[in-house]
Amino acid sequence: MARYVYDFTEGGRDMAALLGGKGSNLAEMTRLGLPVPPGFTLTTEACRAFLDTGGEPPGMWEEISEHLTAVESAAGRLLGQPDDPLLLSVRSGARFSMPGMMETILDIGLNDESVLGLAKVSGSKRFAWDSYRRLVQMFGRTVMGVDGDLFERAIAAHKAQRGTRDDHDLDAAELAVLTEEFKAIIRRETGEDFPQDPAEQLRRAVLAVFESWNGERARLYRRREHIPDDLGTAVNVQRMVFGNLGPDSGSGVAFTRDPATGRPGLYGDYLPDAQGEDVVSGIRNTVPLTELERLDPLSYRRLLDHMGTLERHYRDLCDIEFTIERGTLWMLQTRVGKRTAEAAFVLAAALADEGVVTPDEGLARVSGEGLAQLMFPRFDTSATGDPLARGVPASPGAAVGAVVFDSAEAVRRAAAGEKVVLVRQETTPDDLPGMIAAQAVLTSRGGKTSHAAVVARGMGKVCVCGAEELAVDTGRRRFTTRDGTVVEEGTVLSVDGTAGAVYPGSVPLVDSAVMRFLEAGAGDHATTGVVDAVARALTRADSVRQLEVRANADTPEDAARARRFGAQGIGLCRTEHMFLGERRRLVEEMVLAGTDVQRDRALAALLPLQREDFTGILEAMDGLPVTIRLLDPPLHEFLPDRTELAVRIAAAEARGERPDAHDVELLTAVNRMHEENPMLGLRGVRLGLVVPGLVAMQVRAIGEAVAQRLLAGGAPRAEIMVPLVGDVRELRIVRAEVQRVLAEVSETSGVPVTCPVGTMIELPRAALTAGRIAGEAEFFSFGTNDLTQTTWGFSRDDVEAEFFSAYLDKGVFPVSPFETLDRDGVGRLVRLAVAEGRAARPDLKIGVCGEHGGDPDSVHFFHTAGLDYVSCSPFRVPVARLEAGRAAL
Ligand code: ADP
Ligand code: MG
Ligand code: MG
Repeated sequence: MARYVYDFTEGGRDMAALLGGKGSNLAEMTRLGLPVPPGFTLTTEACRAFLDTGGEPPGMWEEISEHLTAVESAAGRLLGQPDDPLLLSVRSGARFSMPGMMETILDIGLNDESVLGLAKVSGSKRFAWDSYRRLVQMFGRTVMGVDGDLFERAIAAHKAQRGTRDDHDLDAAELAVLTEEFKAIIRRETGEDFPQDPAEQLRRAVLAVFESWNGERARLYRRREHIPDDLGTAVNVQRMVFGNLGPDSGSGVAFTRDPATGRPGLYGDYLPDAQGEDVVSGIRNTVPLTELERLDPLSYRRLLDHMGTLERHYRDLCDIEFTIERGTLWMLQTRVGKRTAEAAFVLAAALADEGVVTPDEGLARVSGEGLAQLMFPRFDTSATGDPLARGVPASPGAAVGAVVFDSAEAVRRAAAGEKVVLVRQETTPDDLPGMIAAQAVLTSRGGKTSHAAVVARGMGKVCVCGAEELAVDTGRRRFTTRDGTVVEEGTVLSVDGTAGAVYPGSVPLVDSAVMRFLEAGAGDHATTGVVDAVARALTRADSVRQLEVRANADTPEDAARARRFGAQGIGLCRTEHMFLGERRRLVEEMVLAGTDVQRDRALAALLPLQREDFTGILEAMDGLPVTIRLLDPPLHEFLPDRTELAVRIAAAEARGERPDAHDVELLTAVNRMHEENPMLGLRGVRLGLVVPGLVAMQVRAIGEAVAQRLLAGGAPRAEIMVPLVGDVRELRIVRAEVQRVLAEVSETSGVPVTCPVGTMIELPRAALTAGRIAGEAEFFSFGTNDLTQTTWGFSRDDVEAEFFSAYLDKGVFPVSPFETLDRDGVGRLVRLAVAEGRAARPDLKIGVCGEHGGDPDSVHFFHTAGLDYVSCSPFRVPVARLEAGRAAL
């Protein structure tokens, strides 16, 4: 038969799955000989069995009774014994810490009789009645489901009567009256009496804690923290010790080091004459832990001692909860403490220096997400009031600027040296110039994977999206907040992308030292504290990682920055941005060309411009590989918007004028090229097969750039990448064209120009036929954005807003598959393509480009899948380096 109960002396820290975090650590402290009030733990299995069947698992109660008897005989008294009651706490404690999310019930065992016994043996009536009223209150609320406010109101009424704001000023008689009132509330609300039988109290408290696993708060918390719903919680039943027995008693919380900075020192709060819940609830003001040294030097010294023991034993920062009962110190909880990103890095370095952990263990304890946070400037919000609005924290960091409502205005003001915040309902690719010009992007619609969010993250730009309380009126160039505040264009705002908040005016910024260090390239600095710690973590990561890290970069500036951030090449150089701006006219000519001659003329005009782009990038990445992707998006993306054209023509006609002939011609072309599903339409390699001369022009530009760099004494390493291939024959045709053009370039330039030709794997069919495709490809690069879209059969742009949030809410996605690679589906295609591609061509180089390349979880997957490199936006390069290192540990 299953075993459901473990004594604290039987468990240990490695049993967290079964005993929960709190239970396993209580057991560990017990084994270390620290003063832990005795008790036992009901397993998470018991909880799951209870939640599954809705009934108490058979045999559980007998087990509890046995363990209870042991606790009773050790204490020399019985649970609720009338003249000298043993009291118990019943504490929740799941596998992963969910602070305050589930229930804990203290002082089980008190009733109308034993409260009198407790008063006598403790010598304090006030204490006894305070404990009893706490029990009735907690039990009433958590076990019997009474609205907690009813109790709080009753307390408030008594305090008002007393003319005090402190619970502490209520005396024994008042607390006795209050307890009776609480019991009456319970009776009124539930039709049932507060149970007097201690055994019944215990049993119902245990089941209530089990049930609190499925409480609304707990469920929400798990969703946000990505904790699975089916783990269940353990329950710890423990002898009570009392911090509310007078001035020589008290409760506190402490950290073995500063959890904000990681620096050594003792941090914590203490509250004399109080039970632990009072410390965090903020009912009374705590004193700094150092005060304890004065109040009770012996307990203070013991506490320091135990904290030292714990930190050495856990080899990490620990936080603890403790209670002092009449000069005796009791340890009630410990765990490896939560910390800020800064503290994580500083601590990892310090513990490695102290020889407490190895450098690899130090690396394991920091994270890419933490590094990303440290790279952004931060607001000092200590003196700011409430935010104007809140939204989704889509891209972290802090930015200040004047509000503008469209891309053109953003560009205009930025060019004049002004800092701006671009505010839109949502953004589209047309807003790109404005997004680039702005310090931050703020939208009233869309989630973490909306256009604004994805693009902003890619650019390392601050973004708050989905601030639904904002009514954005682009026409009148203003927005209105929920409380009716009107914000006009030009008003200065502060946007906090880390917290997802927007403040009026200019909140002061704290610069990121880490970013300054990374931007400067490999360390020539005297570094201190967190910067030094980051540098060391990155160095370690670089020395152990197997994945190379490249960057996605389309301009020489981005390439240069990526290189400073440690990129080992460019994994994706998109050529479509090079078709925008003034060059649109040439693209239009190419599209509209009625004859080969006209088209060739347009292409010929584009050629030198493209060549220049490539030369600059190859120069910035000299000696390192640059993977250039041939044009990917449908051509009509470069033409004016269909509706806009139609409106322009109609307006001209309405004025009785002849519409512009060029507009009419364009509209015809746009109509002809219109696609219902452009994502699945004429794009990628299909363009190369259908639009004569396009591939040749791009390849010639690349080849000539390579030749030029070679002649200039450089070491260009261009690689040509074909997008959206689904069948090897597509690639074969394009590849032949590439070889032909490169041969021509070699011939005319007089320098031999060769470039590896590879393909993106971004269609399921490509992955499924990777073995054959590898016959024509020297490298693969997984385009995981498209591969995710085509595997799931949804387009990111179309489904993101409503449908994604519903899917996240309902738990279909634990996290958006565009943020973190879907290992089960898309990941399986990746593994298959890697295996079959390498089988066909053992030296096949395989990488990934797209958002996932900079996502920590996905980087770990790509490591295990055996890829050669990941490529991500320049700002994510340090993050990817760190995570690739951690993945290799
Ligand atoms: P949480 O998980 O929300 O921190 P805990 O189980 O730690 O809940 O309980 C909350 C508080 O109750 C603790 O901080 C501690 O002060 C108090 N408490 C719990 N068990 C005992 C006990 N056996 N004796 C005295 N106080 C206790
Ligand atoms: Mg606790
Ligand atoms: Mg793609």
